[in-house]
Amino acid sequence: MVSLAVDITYFVTAFIFIYGLKQMSSPVTARGGIVIAGIAMVAATLITFGVPQIHLALDINMILMLAAIAAGSAVAYISAKRVAMTDMPQMIAMYNGMGGGAAAAIAAVELVKLSSSGESHGLVVQVLAVLGAVIGAVSFSGSGVAFAKLQGLMKKTMRLPFHQFINLGLFAAVCVTGFWIATGHPVSFDHVILFFILAIVLGVMVTLPIGGADMPVVISLFNALTGLAVAFEGFVLNNAAMIIAGTVVGSSGTLLTQLMAKAMNRSLANVLFSSFGSDGGAAVEEDIEGSMKEIQAQDAAIMMAYASNVIIIPGYGMAVAQAQHKLKELEDILESRGVNVKYAIHPVAGRMPGHMNVLLAEAGVEYDKIYDLEDINPQFPQADVALVIGANDVVNPVARSNPDSPIYGMPILDADKAQNTIVIKRGQGAGFSGIENHLFYADNTRMLYGDGQKAVGELISGVKQL
Ligand code: NDP
Repeated sequence: MVSLAVDITYFVTAFIFIYGLKQMSSPVTARGGIVIAGIAMVAATLITFGVPQIHLALDINMILMLAAIAAGSAVAYISAKRVAMTDMPQMIAMYNGMGGGAAAAIAAVELVKLSSSGESHGLVVQVLAVLGAVIGAVSFSGSGVAFAKLQGLMKKTMRLPFHQFINLGLFAAVCVTGFWIATGHPVSFDHVILFFILAIVLGVMVTLPIGGADMPVVISLFNALTGLAVAFEGFVLNNAAMIIAGTVVGSSGTLLTQLMAKAMNRSLANVLFSSFGSDGGAAVEEDIEGSMKEIQAQDAAIMMAYASNVIIIPGYGMAVAQAQHKLKELEDILESRGVNVKYAIHPVAGRMPGHMNVLLAEAGVEYDKIYDLEDINPQFPQADVALVIGANDVVNPVARSNPDSPIYGMPILDADKAQNTIVIKRGQGAGFSGIENHLFYADNTRMLYGDGQKAVGELISGVKQL
């Protein structure tokens, strides 16, 4: 009877969870979707205490379980409340890592039980446990490296001599030890430990060389892997909630990975392996012609006030400066003068998918003024002014022109094709990929130095004075 109640609750919460996900596909309903999915998650977690094995274990481990849930919830609540919007990708990388680590830990318990009892759990279960263990461990350590890179704790790209061969060797070693364990050969505790160490090192080694602008693809890949690992371990524990949640995360993460890879015009294999052996970071700096030319806010305001078409390109720096409200004010004042204002959003602008859309929506910018890359690029030649605010990599023309560049092939917003380009940034800081931007040196580009919010404020005052 209790098991039936558990299964029915899992079934209903799975529906609610998927409905919540659907709601997240539009900024208008996303907030409600997150709340609904969260409620379903809490319900699924609470009903899990009714699962017979867990109910029995409560007598022995209740304090441990409740303490772990309380500690985890407290840390998650406090960190989620405090995290800045610009640090969200680090947070997501960390959550992915935790999910992968948890799945690997479940597998570890099952495999250690196997090594100590010598009994077989059945070939299918053992294979799934091993697969979940590898994927979870790789996702755990890889996400840790992604977190460190995004947080600026380590270099964006690190490559050892013969990196690719080391990875191949590691992969082969993981396969051999995993196969040995999964196929029911006698295994010792040390054997299982060795297997996990190899998988964890593999995750680190695969992620170390990935830098440039490929991080969004990597983060969503680890997200998908974590879901897959959880689903596999769900089969091992015979837990429907884990299977459903893992499958949903795995499939949505896979779709997101594909979309992000497409946005970067890269195949997944290219993201994972292409940076081996190349040193794109420095290669683009030598052949820059021209110099950066500064413009004062008043002159930039005149250019924009007397323009017919203005395209605004926000990037990560707009999020740092929290300049979205000022931008909306600038849009309003320009439109009151008859200027046609549009926003151009690159799929990987900022530090998470949809980052710019969320901020602009928060400031009240209408959706029909916001254009995707494919729709806006043909319009740049007709734009009198492209206003780039805190964007860098997503408008870097080397992505079109220099095959040695780490961002070569990534579609960019064609700000350089506008009649005039004004770039707001604080100084000479590079973008996320760490490379120089040829757009800043172009003849028709002017640099308006300063914090994004302050600079747009000065543009507004400038336009008002005309
Ligand atoms: P970039 O990170 O390339 O550039 C941001 C620019 O903003 C910097 O050059 C910086 O220059 C400027 N800036 C920073 N703070 C301010 C401020 N307060 N006021 C004004 N300017 C400021 O941003 P993009 O949006 O162009 O590109 C996003 C990059 O992030 C891509 O490489 C993408 O791959 C990567 N990425 C994206 C993720 C995603 O999911 N969207 C996730 C992880 C990485 P200065 O210091 O001189 O002011």
